[in-house]
Order: sequence, then structure tokens, then C-alpha cells
Amino acid sequence: MNKNTLDRDTIYLKSNFLYGKDFEYKRGILAVEEGIIKGFTREHIRDTINYKGIVIPPLINAHTHIGDNAIKDIGINKTLDDLVKPPNGLKHRFLNSCSEEQLINGIIDGLHDLKSNGILYFCDFRENGITGIDLLKRAFAKFKEYFTEEYLGWSNTLCGDIQFNNLFNMPPSPIILGRPTTSNIEELKKEIREILKVADGIGLSGCNEYSDEELKIIRKEDYKIFSIHANEHENSIKYSKETYGKSEIERIIDLKINPTFIIHATHTTPYEGEILREYNIPVVVCPRANASFNVGLPDIHNLLRNNILIGLGTDNFMANSPSIFKEMDFIYKIYHIDPKEILRFATINNGKILGLEGVGLIEEGYRGIFTFIKDTPSIRYSKNIVASIITRCERGDIYNFIVDR
Ligand SMILES: [Zn+2]
Repeated sequence: MNKNTLDRDTIYLKSNFLYGKDFEYKRGILAVEEGIIKGFTREHIRDTINYKGIVIPPLINAHTHIGDNAIKDIGINKTLDDLVKPPNGLKHRFLNSCSEEQLINGIIDGLHDLKSNGILYFCDFRENGITGIDLLKRAFAKFKEYFTEEYLGWSNTLCGDIQFNNLFNMPPSPIILGRPTTSNIEELKKEIREILKVADGIGLSGCNEYSDEELKIIRKEDYKIFSIHANEHENSIKYSKETYGKSEIERIIDLKINPTFIIHATHTTPYEGEILREYNIPVVVCPRANASFNVGLPDIHNLLRNNILIGLGTDNFMANSPSIFKEMDFIYKIYHIDPKEILRFATINNGKILGLEGVGLIEEGYRGIFTFIKDTPSIRYSKNIVASIITRCERGDIYNFIVDR
């Protein structure tokens, strides 16, 4: 193997793969041409990149709040309202007491955490308007310095002598949803426009914090991703019913603000399941975070029955590790859904929900972006490889080039 092998337009990766949407276990040589998967080849290839573990589609975390990584585990056993309700929740008070440097270092640590868990994309709800977005961007720029050729150099690894490149060492890329800080209508419009110049969309804490008019204005201005927490806990639903005469999900539908996806739906009635399906609104569930906050668990079976596109997220860094492996394991243990379905939540479904084109499967036409699982006791001798991956793998099972800082 020499450097030129990786400089070629086509890379041949010889390994074990989870192929297609049914995650068929395949051993072979996968051709990736100019970053796009061309399929398996039977040709005799001399210069293959050999990887001894298993190559799976990229893991994606569809909901995080990475900004609160600097205040891990504040408020254990406090109620959700005490903790996160803006503007006076514990979270906001603690964050206000942090220096900018602490916040940025917290975010950089969070990025390492994502990386070591094999996550290649994450969608973050960035609070505090333009300032919050700027913090994440600065942290990400610093984090990317770990990826320079100079720092990484060459390595003798399972793959042999290969140079680190994009295929093997991609940073977890943020999809940033900003949140406005103002409520005066004219200022709000202006702020939304400014946020959308630097972010991928808008992510709101919930509709209870906004009037009908404000929600409509935000949605009208937002031509990118629009996402909102909804029906997270019984108190928020109760407040919505008392104030607006309907649940948060019903209100979102009635206002026709048509979110790209909603977060949580911890509590859904059969009727809400039906209207989410009717309006084709995906749901990103975060059951471990719901359990942390003791607010109940989402009725994933109800969502599945209604054919709703389900994605996975881990929510607040302060309350929950961003590990999608832990999330998948938890879901299997609680719900006993087919492991393949659970892996789809974290890969292809999250890719679709976030609008990541060609990301989420190992299949012809998809981008050659992968998560690499090492050949470890977690997967050896497995008789159901997808089940072993989702219930046994952890950060130590990920082939991660930059974890040793
Ligand atoms: Zn959240």
C-alpha cells in the first residue's frame, strides 16, 4: 500500500459490509469512485485497502444540544421544567455563568465524544441566536485542526500503512439549527434572516414559548430546515391544552407550520399518530433523554404503526451521552423492535430526515461515508450481526483515528 493508492479516483475497500437497507452481511471488495459507491467488484484488484472489522453505514445523531456539554450532570433528579425551561431553567443560569472559553472547550470535547462513538453527522439545536451558532462554528474549526495531515501523519493500523484521508477520518459534521432570541415581530423577522445566513435552519424549544403569530412568521421566513420540540412531557401538553385548547402536536398541525421534523413526541395519542402520518411529519425520538428527565417514553410502536419516519437523537449533552449505540441498545431492550429497524433509525432515516443526500446506506449511488467497527469481542462469533452491533458495540469498538489526544 502506498500513498498513491488513496490518491486515485477509485478506492477499493476490502472488508465485511452491511449492505443495503436490509443490512445484508457481505464480504468483498467495494469500489468507491470519486466518493460514490459503485458496488462490489469481482475483478482482481491488487491495491485494496483491507479492513478487518465491519463497515456499516454512517451513524447519525439527529438531535443534540452540544452547547451544554460544559455543564454535565447539573440538576440530577430535578424536573425538566426546573432544568431547561427558558429563560430561567438551571441550564440557562449555569450556561450564563460559563466563560466563552469553557463553552468552546466543552463543545470541542463533545465533538470528540461524537467522533469516538462513530457518529459522522449530528443535528444540533444551537441556542442563543447568532452568538450560539458562532460558538459552535469556532469550536468546530478548532476541532478540525486535529484532522490535519501534519497532526495525523501515517499510521500502522489494521488497514496497514494508509494515510488518513476523508474516507477514514471524517469529522462529525454539524447540521446547525439556530434559535432566535427576540420576540418583537420586526426584530424577530430580521433575526431569523440573519440566523439563516449562517445556519441550516431553525430549531425551537417548543411551541408553548411562542404565539400563533410568531410561529407563523418564523416558519414563513424559514426556507431551510424547521424543527421544534413537541409533546415532550405531560406538563407541556397540559399547558398547551389549557392555553390553546389543543396539544402541541395538534397546534403545530392546525397552524400549518409544517415542520421538517419534530423532536420527542414522548406522548402521542392514536389520533396524533394519525395526523403526523397524514401531514407526513417525521419524528426524532430521544428515549434515553426522556428517561433521564423522567417524563415517560415515546410510543414508538404507535409511530411505526402509522408509518411515520422515525429518527434518533440523544438530546442534551448535559443529561445524556451522545452515543447512538447506547440509544439503539436502550430501544431494543425497552421496545423489542427488529434490530434492523432500529439501525435504520440511526442511519438512513436520520439521513433522510436531515436532508443529507446520498448518506445513510452502503449501496450503489450512495456516498462512500462509513462508520468502521473494529474486530473486537463485541461482534466476534455473532450469529446476528446487526443485533450484536446495536446492543453490544460501544465507543471502544469504533475505529477512531483521533481519539488519543
Ligand atoms: Zn432537545
